[in-house]
Amino acid sequence: MAAQEIHSHFDVLIAGAGISGIGAAYHLQTQCPGKTYHILDALESYGGTWLTHKYPGIRSDSDLYTFGYRFKPWIGPPIATAEEILNYMGEVIDENQIDQHIEYQHKITRARYSSEDKLWTVEAKCGKTGKTKLYTCTFLWMCQGYYNHAEGYTPEWDGMADFKGEIIHPQTWPEDTNLKGKKVICIGSGATAATLVPAIAGECEHVTLLQRSPTYFFPAENRNELADELRRIGVSDDDVHRIARMKALFDQDETCQRCLTEPEVVKAELLEAARAYLGPEFDIDKHFTPKYRPWQQRLAFIPDGDLFQGIASGAASVVTDEIERFTETGIALKSGEHLEADIIITATGFNLSVLGGIPFEVDGVPVDFSQTVTYRGMMFTGVPNMVWVFGYFRASWTLRVDLVADFVCRLLNHMDATDMDEVRVELRQQDQGMALLPWMDPNNFNPGYLMRAMHLMPKRGSDPIWAHTQDYWKERDELPAVQLDAEEFVYAKRQPAQASAA
Ligand SMILES: Cc1cc2nc3c(=O)[nH]c(=O)nc-3n(C[C@H](O)[C@H](O)[C@H](O)COP(=O)(O)OP(=O)(O)OC[C@H]3O[C@@H](n4cnc5c(N)ncnc54)[C@H](O)[C@@H]3O)c2cc1C
Repeated sequence: MAAQEIHSHFDVLIAGAGISGIGAAYHLQTQCPGKTYHILDALESYGGTWLTHKYPGIRSDSDLYTFGYRFKPWIGPPIATAEEILNYMGEVIDENQIDQHIEYQHKITRARYSSEDKLWTVEAKCGKTGKTKLYTCTFLWMCQGYYNHAEGYTPEWDGMADFKGEIIHPQTWPEDTNLKGKKVICIGSGATAATLVPAIAGECEHVTLLQRSPTYFFPAENRNELADELRRIGVSDDDVHRIARMKALFDQDETCQRCLTEPEVVKAELLEAARAYLGPEFDIDKHFTPKYRPWQQRLAFIPDGDLFQGIASGAASVVTDEIERFTETGIALKSGEHLEADIIITATGFNLSVLGGIPFEVDGVPVDFSQTVTYRGMMFTGVPNMVWVFGYFRASWTLRVDLVADFVCRLLNHMDATDMDEVRVELRQQDQGMALLPWMDPNNFNPGYLMRAMHLMPKRGSDPIWAHTQDYWKERDELPAVQLDAEEFVYAKRQPAQASAA
């Protein structure tokens, strides 16, 4: 094959124009104003998750005072629709002229690093022309998310092919879906099912939420009283955002701590809140009392208790049972019951994707990320000049977008100040012989998509610097204090001969 021409070179290439990629761009141009950068995204516009998900009711399940960026005030109810999140991101892009740096419909298909040149060569396929372009960059900022965007996770059930109706995964929701007069079953008990069920309850004939096991839900009004009051007395949007964010983080931290120190009390409060909507006759034990501790899986906020309201009204119902098989007309359950359906929605989650499934090479050797060790869930041993933005599960994802960006910008500025072209993380003398563990401790956090793919994820070390601790409250102090000349960072400079060739 003839050598391909390099299309462009940038100091930093950002993969993805979702909330992580746009945040990375803002911080990079603010904190490292001399750096050239470019964003590649496979889609036709920005937004990632909030652009691709089109199912009815699609909204955040964490509050926008913390899901929003640190630098851009959120003005609106704490739980936001996908459209509101896209508008917010659009304003960030416009206000900071980020648009000129984004190339849409360019899917990264390969990334190769050369230690000699201290450069990444990134291949991207243009969706319009079908042609592959080559880019080089010194630093690769991976903001491509954490799940497979093309296809959600649907388990294989017996008899699926027999079902005469439609089976829909929410991740690929057909926009022409007509629910009017239809009997719908929504399989799943996570945030997606909890969003979808109340959103379609008034539209279809009836919707049944079918779950194998229950989830904790946290019903509360979709308003932030403190923010509303501060606004009423004339506090500026910037200050309202900062204060409401501090309060939300304080409250979340308190909830997390209470889940560890008094899980039974928190559990009782959550069940009581459900009972207030569903009434004393409803079987809360069976349908809304999980086996796990609150926060061991993501605790889904349901604005104004809309899921419970849908069930209480009779437009929706919940069944806790196991699927025996699909039939021509619905689902046969292990209990012997049969649920009739015209449409079955499989809100069964997604497939975790490690670094977007992009083949990486370092000096011609393919990178097997499961054989690398992660530095604080951001960098990986053996993979220089690269960071992956993997947010928080318990706290809002975006809190980590800001923190990781501060770290990367500090690192890039440090490399400039010390005249270095390459940074790697390496296990220190004291880490030799350290236990290497799965990416996440299943006792700490164990959702299905993570459990299914844990063997593909980078390893965690027993020393917390070699782990994604998922603890925002620790990281907000630890990350800014990281000593960039510590032993785990190994820097190198491009040799002068190669420097002039590059
Ligand atoms: C339905 C849903 C609701 C959620 N709600 C919340 C919430 O309320 N709070 C919360 O904290 N988290 C939530 N999450 C998690 C959520 O995904 C993250 O919070 C956040 O939106 C992820 O942003 P991201 O930019 O990292 O990734 P994504 O949103 O996944 O965006 C990644 C971008 O990278 C692009 N990309 C991927 N691979 C390539 C490639 N090879 N080449 C070029 N471009 C590529 C994609 O096209 C996409 O635009 C939710 C997730 C889902 C699915």
